[in-house]
Amino acid sequence: MITLTKEERNLKNFINGEWTEVTNKEKVYNPANGEVIAEVPNSGAEAITQAAESARIAQREWALVPAPQRAELLYKAGTMMKERKERLSQLLTLENGKVIEEARGEVQEGIDMAFYMAGEGRRLFGQTTPSELKDKFAMSERCPVGVVGIITPWNFPIAIATWKSFPAIVSGNAVIWKPSSETPLMANELARIFEEAGLPKGILQVVYGSGAIVGQAMIEHDAIRVISFTGSNETGRKVATECGKQLKKVSLEMGGKNAVIVMEDADIDLAVEGILWSAFGTSGQRCTACSRVIVHKAVRKTLEERLLKAMKNLTIGDGLDSNNKIGPIINQTGLDKILKYIEIGKEEGAKLAAGGKQLTVENYEKGFYFEPTLFTDVSIDMRIAQEEIFGPVVSLIEVNNFEEAIAANNKVKYGLSSSIFTKDVNRVFQAQRDLDTGIVYVNAGTTGAEIHLPFGGTKGTGNGHRDSGVQALDVFTEWKAVYVDY
Ligand code: GLU
Repeated sequence: MITLTKEERNLKNFINGEWTEVTNKEKVYNPANGEVIAEVPNSGAEAITQAAESARIAQREWALVPAPQRAELLYKAGTMMKERKERLSQLLTLENGKVIEEARGEVQEGIDMAFYMAGEGRRLFGQTTPSELKDKFAMSERCPVGVVGIITPWNFPIAIATWKSFPAIVSGNAVIWKPSSETPLMANELARIFEEAGLPKGILQVVYGSGAIVGQAMIEHDAIRVISFTGSNETGRKVATECGKQLKKVSLEMGGKNAVIVMEDADIDLAVEGILWSAFGTSGQRCTACSRVIVHKAVRKTLEERLLKAMKNLTIGDGLDSNNKIGPIINQTGLDKILKYIEIGKEEGAKLAAGGKQLTVENYEKGFYFEPTLFTDVSIDMRIAQEEIFGPVVSLIEVNNFEEAIAANNKVKYGLSSSIFTKDVNRVFQAQRDLDTGIVYVNAGTTGAEIHLPFGGTKGTGNGHRDSGVQALDVFTEWKAVYVDY
């Protein structure tokens, strides 16, 4: 069993290079057994004032450090993350609940992002463009925006933080980070890594607290020029509205209602594997989780039977036990939301083919477990097929042909991820063209995004910006056009 240090049990804000105590604290729970593992600050708005003012000063110096040297810090941090990977993964499972294998995958994503973005420090390309005039040189360059605010969720507490903070840091910005208070251990570890790596004080600051107070203060502070947010659609809309009032640039990633399409020519076993992993991994608490299966009528019965059989083998329990395939739900609020949707599904007339109940796991009576659940006989417009549940609940929707499958996929307000299982190469390219999502998979489930590609979506999922990939630099830089007469 992993033991926490005194500092890890009693978390502090990290403001301008100082570990700062706050009197108002909240408890952090292990979702596997409901035990308290740590205490985290519930900060007031003054913490943001302090952080933002010092970040404003620190950033001016940081922006003058050549980008390849800024990148060195990311290499260092990435190397330290690599050395500490196993402990980081265990801490991640402890606070988030996801099974240890997935936690290792998530930490690895952070390591990959460090090295990838460090590479960008040696590129950060601008452009030269022929001027219309004689004896004039015209070019454009990327400039840091200044101080940026990042607001990150509990479901990927380290990966998503690296998608946002690493491009921001390498581009010459200072970062003020409000992590989810459900999963503060990853923020604490990452801040300590950067402190040890020698990142100048004030360039990465962590302030824990509520969205209503800390988040709002971030939006209102004039030193903070960009907010990058990942979280629920409801909160994202509020963030966008508040940022709009301040004319503040905002990047939003607000979830999905992702579908796996299974065509009549699909490899059904492969499709079952893809569905299992993307629907029930992280107990379905991924923005990219598969929560709809759109299946051609010719293979509906076979797919359903095989899926139900495979679901029986998913062992559920504490994620630190590597025999378990599925860990707990994050907390009681998460469980209540899932239970609400089970009732909605039944009332709407869908058939509950498997699961649907909260689970008590032996020796972990107070953990928040939920059975992998499958609804069949679902129609496209039902709420369970339209709204994000954020749990291990999948709806099976039968269609007559390819066109209906694409239409069903697109008939939701979200547009994050989608997938199609087929052997027909023409359909692959048609699907790639017609699926209205930011991410498309062929012959794989809807999850497993890689850090060197843009992450984000269309419609209600976002507002046109992307996390990770070189595209993330667009969020944290401004373009400057420069003309030199000679
Ligand atoms: N890394 C995840 C995936 O593609 C998605 C992150 C999220 O759910 O926000 O599987």
